[in-house]
Amino acid sequence: MIDAGLPVRAFFTTRTGGQSQPPYASLNVATHVGDDPEAVAANRAVVARHADAPVTFLNAAHGVRVEWITEAGREPPPADVLITTTPGVALGAIAADCVPLLLHDGGTGAVAAVHAGRPGLYAGVIDAAMAALIDLRGKSTPTTSISASIGPSVCGKCYEVPEQMRAEVSARHRAAFATTSWGTPALDLPRAVEARLGELGVRTIVRIPVCTLEDQQVFSHRRDGLTGRHAGVIVHP
Ligand SMILES: [Zn+2]
Repeated sequence: MIDAGLPVRAFFTTRTGGQSQPPYASLNVATHVGDDPEAVAANRAVVARHADAPVTFLNAAHGVRVEWITEAGREPPPADVLITTTPGVALGAIAADCVPLLLHDGGTGAVAAVHAGRPGLYAGVIDAAMAALIDLRGKSTPTTSISASIGPSVCGKCYEVPEQMRAEVSARHRAAFATTSWGTPALDLPRAVEARLGELGVRTIVRIPVCTLEDQQVFSHRRDGLTGRHAGVIVHP
């Protein structure tokens, strides 16, 4: 587990400590990738023990859908942002190259887990998550009490895309414009997430310096194809 560096219990899982067999070995938390459901349940129990709470996992819709979670342990509909103000509720964003983003608002106590892939980022998922947090606040409360942690994701030196796609995404998110280490068009999603959070007034942003494609301690769909998923987990105290 990698600590997310936030003022509440929050972390990113890695590949180790679970029961799944290759190609999902070992701490795969996703039910939709073809892994043995019993192994996934056991892995999720490991994550819940680390969170000290049952975890509600996000099932990505790859858009800007926000789902409020008011009680623990219920499977939510597909969404890109899970948010709660309920004490003891833990939220998990599943990914394997896309950006798992955890948010905490010290002003209201709200926490959120976000799945920010290329389509979601482009559609405005960071804005949707921030809008949900800001909706909870009085007008006078500054956004400076919001902190964020950007989890393991594919970096701009590794995430090769067609030239046209780079042009489209970076027209909306300038910080996404990147070039691979081998000189071809690329996108830097974690840098774009960080830049957008900054534009929206978040001053405390933790970046976990792990590229999923380069680092075998986490899952990478790009690197391995059929494989598992890790998660970012945040717990409302
Ligand atoms: Zn990389």
